[in-house]
Amino acid sequence: MKRAASTPPPMHGNEMRYNPATGRWVIYALSRRQRPRELIGSREGARTEPAYDELCPFCPGHEQDLPPILLEYGRGDSHRQIRVVRNKYPALTPEGDLKRVCQGMYMRMEGYGHHEVLIESPEHNRQIPVMTPEEVELIIEAYHRRYLKLIGVQKNLLVVIFRNYGRRAGASLMHPHSQIISTGVVPGHVREMEYRAQGYFDQWGSCMYCDMLAEELSAGVRIIHANRSFVSFIPYAAAQPFEIWIMPREHKAHFGDISAEEKTDLASSLHAMLRRIQERLNDPDYNYVIHSSAKYRSDEPQAHWFLQIGPKLTTRAGFEIGSGMSINTSLPEDDAAFLMPDPLPEKGAGNASQE
Ligand SMILES: [Zn+2]
Ligand SMILES: [Zn+2]
Repeated sequence: MKRAASTPPPMHGNEMRYNPATGRWVIYALSRRQRPRELIGSREGARTEPAYDELCPFCPGHEQDLPPILLEYGRGDSHRQIRVVRNKYPALTPEGDLKRVCQGMYMRMEGYGHHEVLIESPEHNRQIPVMTPEEVELIIEAYHRRYLKLIGVQKNLLVVIFRNYGRRAGASLMHPHSQIISTGVVPGHVREMEYRAQGYFDQWGSCMYCDMLAEELSAGVRIIHANRSFVSFIPYAAAQPFEIWIMPREHKAHFGDISAEEKTDLASSLHAMLRRIQERLNDPDYNYVIHSSAKYRSDEPQAHWFLQIGPKLTTRAGFEIGSGMSINTSLPEDDAAFLMPDPLPEKGAGNASQE
């Protein structure tokens, strides 16, 4: 790291922390502090789903309700582990073009892009925590194949891979699935994170995310899990309780450049983290998303892809909407300690320490 380590002065009352990746200050409302267990208590309870749901369009036998299958494969004899289809109700469609049209002082364009659904299992209730790591690796493999396919389309500038789990996270179906959307524009949020990483690189001559990883490994107090290729931690200025970043140790701007070894290790990290939050946070709704560089920045030294998991345990309210700042009632170090294999919490520890 570039800056000499020093002992921080004690905080008086509440604390604010700055996230250099987003440029956002986060308020840690320690006077309204909630212990991890209180946050878990805000969920209704673990859900149960049948292995087959006759009303679910993703369950086997309902292929007539599905758009054409883009990709289907499995492991060994099974051809039916993973299916990728176009989203039946797409946010964006590949038929549009990128021409901007002015309407007075305003501007519009056609809703160009791709919107795909990745059905992760034929079984309606086979969520990632109960899959084997090999099954999760098939999902990562499908992400990679579709990512390469879509980023290779000339008009696509960004490919976002994400998973919404539960209604609070925006999922309308419980059948295990992820989504992939490509866009023909670079959204302002992505551009802002790029500018921040570029500014950091210009100042310090190194990748902010590589430095963050080194800082986290050196501090050690926010890391939950690590393997050969990835480190999973709660960021120093996490915007919400139990936000987890799974960061590749090797600097790569582009998720498309993930290696075979990294795919195995990402599956293992993701599996471990989703099991951990299911067991310890009472199966919360969550989103995860893979942040990857926009297409034309794929070789740049300041961009570094990673996967972000955000459990839905709190709600953004008026001040947060008005200021863009987040109020987090739980400290990252406490959250990380709660998700660590040891010491085990009183209930539901399972075999998390073996992951
Ligand atoms: Zn289903
Ligand atoms: Zn890096």
